[in-house]
Amino acid sequence: MPSLQSSEEMWEKTVGISACNNYDAAFVKGSLRDVLQKCRGIEHRIENGARVLIKPNMLAPALSKDAVTTHPVIIAALIEIVREMGGVAYVGDSPMRGTLDEVAQISGIKEAVTQTGASLLSLEEEKEVFIDNKYTTGTFTLSAEAMEMDLIINAAKLKTHTLTGLTAAVKNFYGIIPGKHKKFYHVRHPLLSDFANFLLGLYFSMPPSLSVVDAIVAMEGMGPRSGRPRPCGAILASPDAVALDAACARLTSHNFAEISVLEAAVKQGYLKSDFSDVKINGPIEELKLQDFDKGAGGKGWSFLWRYLPVFINNLRERKRPWPYVNEVCVGCNTCIDSCPVECIEANSKDTPSLFIDHSRCIRCYCCQEACPYGAISLR
Ligand code: SF4
Ligand code: SF4
Repeated sequence: MPSLQSSEEMWEKTVGISACNNYDAAFVKGSLRDVLQKCRGIEHRIENGARVLIKPNMLAPALSKDAVTTHPVIIAALIEIVREMGGVAYVGDSPMRGTLDEVAQISGIKEAVTQTGASLLSLEEEKEVFIDNKYTTGTFTLSAEAMEMDLIINAAKLKTHTLTGLTAAVKNFYGIIPGKHKKFYHVRHPLLSDFANFLLGLYFSMPPSLSVVDAIVAMEGMGPRSGRPRPCGAILASPDAVALDAACARLTSHNFAEISVLEAAVKQGYLKSDFSDVKINGPIEELKLQDFDKGAGGKGWSFLWRYLPVFINNLRERKRPWPYVNEVCVGCNTCIDSCPVECIEANSKDTPSLFIDHSRCIRCYCCQEACPYGAISLR
């Protein structure tokens, strides 16, 4: 078995960014080539016959225009690039809601896979993996198929995220955890800081990877599922997913303390708090959005927190908002199934007809992520 202890020193904190304001297939492929060249992302990484997993964000069944999933044009272009380099391309994920086939069909990814002759791969076969790095330690159930690939091309979507502030490259590796196990890792890491360290530990345990972020149309507001599509006009790529997330933070005007993964990376000494150790090749300043709606997850945490006493930071953890069912609820019960601690109960006497027991809620926001109707509010 290959060593799972990745050497961080091997990763280059270089990010390529390119302007790309529409999903025209030829334009997207040209922009992808440009960002991969700018970050030296794909050179020497694909040998003839190499098995390459392209891992989109396939959170839930949604149309590509809704910006919930990575756009199929990006996936088709990546498949073509992998095949031109002699690799064998697979496209796979383990969606949070719906089956892989259903999400692929509705998002348009299935058509992209079929037309390019690649294979759709369900990441549901389980493999126990022991991870031991400075971010996390323990045995975790991961996708056997993903862990046995020669290269993972992590094809993420840029979206706000109620729990982590932003989901881009690092968070997208959470899909490597097979279906039902995802919610148990929330229970295992109820504190946001622990969960962020787990995400970093997971990322640094992956097979060799490079990450691409679809920010042509991102999601702002109540992401990762119920937010609004927001044209950003950019594609980004890097062999270093943490550096790539830092570039996404700059693009959307977040500071590191508003994004839990970056906060953890700064605390662990992997990243500088002003991102000055991240080399960005491309027009980041021209593409930067000053008015990006950060939603409930990323708002209001100043970088000044780090100069405050520990107990104030603990208070900050406790002040995270609580989920409430709002009047839009149609009683589909999807959220009940998604809750890792089973604290959502049907309550037929009232409208809305659900009751959330806040004394047991760990504020993982899986319910908000799972609800197809935007019927979970946070306050
Ligand atoms: S809150 Fe959303 S997921 Fe839960 S029952 Fe209502 S509509 Fe369905
Ligand atoms: S009610 Fe929602 S936020 Fe609370 S534990 Fe359940 S899924 Fe997580």
